[in-house]
Amino acid sequence: MGSIASLSNVWVNYNGFTALEDVSLSVDEQDFIGIIGPNGGGKSTLLKTILGLIEPSKGKVEILGMPPRKASRQVGYVAQFQNFDRQFPINVWEVALMGRLGHAGLLKGYSAEDRHAADEALEKVEMAGYKNRHISQLSGGQQQRVLIARALATHPKLLLLDEPASNVDSAMQKGFYELLSELNRQMAIIMVSHDISAVSEYVKKVACLNRKLYYHGTGQLTAEDLEATYQCPVELIAHGAPHRILRDHPR
Ligand code: ADP
Repeated sequence: MGSIASLSNVWVNYNGFTALEDVSLSVDEQDFIGIIGPNGGGKSTLLKTILGLIEPSKGKVEILGMPPRKASRQVGYVAQFQNFDRQFPINVWEVALMGRLGHAGLLKGYSAEDRHAADEALEKVEMAGYKNRHISQLSGGQQQRVLIARALATHPKLLLLDEPASNVDSAMQKGFYELLSELNRQMAIIMVSHDISAVSEYVKKVACLNRKLYYHGTGQLTAEDLEATYQCPVELIAHGAPHRILRDHPR
């Protein structure tokens, strides 16, 4: 399997505050990794480091064998939903096309290839029928699909998702995760969330992040990792979570 991303002993500091401590992670092309951790645990920092928006103070990050900034076109990123302005006057088609901005020259405008890529991305997320709909006239789950289409328009090899299901209502979540599983056939996925129940059965591997990353490259979390991450009793946070992820789950 080809290596998509590798972080080796990465430290990130903000003005002397350590947000990531000695984090190592290896991502292969078939991976679908769920990373959970409390608010402030460093999840966004980790994603920004992979995107090359933050330079580690120590350690090494390689994406497709390159420094992150050079590989940024091959990495799709779907930010937290709150960061998205729903009233912005733009339709579904235009949002997907925006994913091609890096390809289109500012003066040249979008090419036929750009338009084709946006169409294809909307089809993949089953939103092609909504092309002319204003984004404010979509459900939360549909908006999230359109934002994923925007990330797909550059044909990424790695897709990063920050709290992707937070605005998808529970009836729609199964379909949403099935979409991610489908996309995972073509690209590696890293999904972060503060919510342990977001680690659905669709995720292949799970990790805990609270400044340090607790990762064993498997689909199981240990009670020790959860306690170290959340610093509270496992019984509380395990409530409602799929059982298979908890090896030593006390009943
Ligand atoms: P999460 O995404 O898990 O909520 P973050 O990566 O946003 O966590 O933040 C990790 C820690 O780093 C938090 O304590 C946060 O306050 C701090 N932090 C994040 N961004 C900055 C910044 N630009 N300057 C200073 N501290 C920051």
